[in-house]
Amino acid sequence: MHKVDLRKIYNFYPLDQKADPGNLPTGGDVYYECHECRGIVSSVTFIKAACECGNLEGNKGEVTVKEPARVTVVRGRLK
Ligand SMILES: [Zn+2]
Repeated sequence: MHKVDLRKIYNFYPLDQKADPGNLPTGGDVYYECHECRGIVSSVTFIKAACECGNLEGNKGEVTVKEPARVTVVRGRLK
């Protein structure tokens, strides 16, 4: 799988409010950071993307989150 290190391109900032694990926000600048492996996946990724441990798996504009409680929602800004 093609792997992009988003941390090289973006700075990530936690959201002001704690996200509801049952209803994670999505958006063009919203990313999910996995607690287990520190992987980051865009909440609206259109390319196949996953974190190392498989908690986050995205494709075609949607991300499947296996354990939302182990995810931090962050906002990405281009460096
Ligand atoms: Zn992970």
